[in-house]
Order: sequence, then C-alpha cells, then structure tokens
Amino acid sequence: MNMEVKPTPRPGILDIAAYVPGKEHAPGVARVFKLSSNESPLGPSPKAIGAFQQSAGHLEMYPDGQALALREAIADVHGLNVHNILCGNGSDELLGLLCHVYLGAGDEGIITEHGFLVYKIQIKAAGATPVVVKEKDCTVDVDAILSAVTERTKIIFLANPGNPTGTYVPASEIRRLHAGLPGNVILVLDAAYAEYVRRNDYEAGVELVSGNRNVVMTRTFSKVYGLAALRVGWAYGPTEILDALNRVRGPFNLNAPAIAAGAAAIRDQEFVGKAVEHNLVWIEKVTEALTGLGLRVTPSVANFVLMHFPDVDGKRAEEADAFLTSRGYILRAVRGYGFANSLRMTIGSAEANIGVIEALTEFMGRA
Ligand SMILES: *Cc1c(COP(=O)(O)O)cnc(C)c1O
Repeated sequence: MNMEVKPTPRPGILDIAAYVPGKEHAPGVARVFKLSSNESPLGPSPKAIGAFQQSAGHLEMYPDGQALALREAIADVHGLNVHNILCGNGSDELLGLLCHVYLGAGDEGIITEHGFLVYKIQIKAAGATPVVVKEKDCTVDVDAILSAVTERTKIIFLANPGNPTGTYVPASEIRRLHAGLPGNVILVLDAAYAEYVRRNDYEAGVELVSGNRNVVMTRTFSKVYGLAALRVGWAYGPTEILDALNRVRGPFNLNAPAIAAGAAAIRDQEFVGKAVEHNLVWIEKVTEALTGLGLRVTPSVANFVLMHFPDVDGKRAEEADAFLTSRGYILRAVRGYGFANSLRMTIGSAEANIGVIEALTEFMGRA
C-alpha cells in the first residue's frame, strides 16, 4: 500500500466549518424543552401525519421524481405556476444547488453579517468566495449589499425575515436592492419564516420573482408546517434557473412520505392559522417578559426572539445558557452568527415559554 498518496478534497473544502445544529440534550434533566431550532410547538397538521402514515404502505416504490402532488398543492395554495416550483430535500438542498450551479472559482457570493450559516458553507463548497457585508441594528442593510457588488458577484443570499435576528426588510427596500443589481446576479430571498410575518410592508418575494429572470424565493416546511424531520423545501423561480437546477439535483430528492405529508400540510391552511396565532400571542408575551427582566430583545416578526444579555459577570449568555440547560430549556447559542452575548429562543408551547421566563427571572435576579 502506498502511504504517500491519498485522496484530497478540492482546495477550500477543509477550511469549511461544518454546520452545528441546535443542541438537543440537557444531560441529567428529565424533561427537556428544545427551543433551539425554530421547530413548531404545534407539530404538523393531523392531515399531514395521516398522509405520512398512509405512504408507509408503499415503501417499495420509488417516489415521484417530479414531486408533482406536492408542487401542485403549493401552486394551488399560493396561486403560482407549477412549472416555476422546484422542491428540495429541505430548502437547504436548494440553497446548495444554487451555489453549485451558478458559482465557481473566482466568483463571489454576498451574505450578510448575521446571515444563515448554510449560505457561507455552500458558497465555499462551490469553490467561490463569500463576501460578508455589515448589517445595521441587526437588520440587513441594502446599501451595504449594493456597495459590495463587483463583476465577480454571482449570487446574493438574504434571509427575510433574518435568522437569528428575526428582523425583516420591507418590500420597497428589497425592490430597491434588486433594481441596483446587474441582471446576471441572482438574488435569493430565503423566506423560511414568511408565514409568521404580519406586516403590511412585507412581501416574501413572489412578485419580484414573477417579474424578473434573476430572483429566486425559497420556502420551507420545517417551520410553521412542523415537518422539519421530513426535509421538505421549495423554490419559486424563473424557468431557466429551475431548469438548470433540475439537471443536477438528485433524481428522487424528495422521499414519498415527505411528498405526501407536505401536500396534505400545505392544503390545511386552517392549521397553519392556528400555529401563526399561537406564535403571535406568545412572541408578544415573551418579548415583554424578557424586556421586563432587563434583557434587550431584538424585535422579531418570526417564531423566535434574539435576547441580548448584560456584559456583567454571572449574567452573560454563556452562563444563562448553562443555567437554562440545567433546567431543561435548550436555547440556541449564536456566537457563530456574530452574537457573543446573546441567545435565540424559539417560541414554544405555553408551558415551555412560561418555564423559560421563570428560569430567566431567577437567573437575572441571582446575586
Ligand atoms: C430553518 C431555516 C431554513 C430551512 O431549512 P430546511 O432545510 O428547509 O429545513 C432555511 N433558511 C433559514 C434562514 C432558516 O432559518
């Protein structure tokens, strides 16, 4: 055996820091509330669970490689053309495909200071260079993005609302951003939390995609639909872009239970309404309670809040994280997103939310 020669990944691959998912365990604690991955406390629609169970009777069959039942359900509910919808194994897969198809060595992808870490990983994986621009008050800054565009820029990733900030960029600002971009730059609007937003000046991106050749909106079933385990996401985009992605994706990228459950879930908008209502009620209560404890909370339109701790010994985010974990409340440390002294909390069940507030009351009151 030749010990000198070995397989080597492409340059840059080993510089990538792997994505670290939200913590799941609180060692030694009997009852755990996982509020670290923005999962829905209501779970999926019972209709989605029914469809999933029914598909268990046909596991020997390949899934429909076009995921047509799911794409038709999405098209019906959102009033879109089914040919402009592409489904993915989570929206993560679609974000990766966009990078692999449109980026190469020497190209640049623009991301923002507190942007979702998957963007950076996929830009690097494609051999391109991530260019990070500053945000303003935890909010995406359109002018900063426009100033960073060069002739090497091929793609811009923008989560709207942002994760982990929970802030949003109004539709007029997104349009101003698009208007300032060269036609060969793809603007990706990641609207993973769109269903939760109740603001008149917000748009997920449908109109902008429909009227242009260089805008893609991505959505997910992992958040308000409560189907994170099944890995279902979708993109709405121009035919030429979806055609290119279709050529390289896995031929059966969505499994059959995921297609069935996703279609049933999106057709049950009454259930979505309940999940959104629960979130609206609790995000307000949680924000008010945390603010009352002296924590600064970034105003959020999504299903989570970003809380900032005082720079005081014993009261920092790391200590709060350990304290909460010891009580069974798992929040998300967000150091990797540029917030060294903050935690992100998913809005959970009433019991979980009250529990966190009580635990933090004790934590903040400690001598
Ligand atoms: C949760 C999340 C997603 C969804 O990813 P999936 O792969 O569909 O589970 C996408 N973008 C952002 C910003 C998210 O927070």
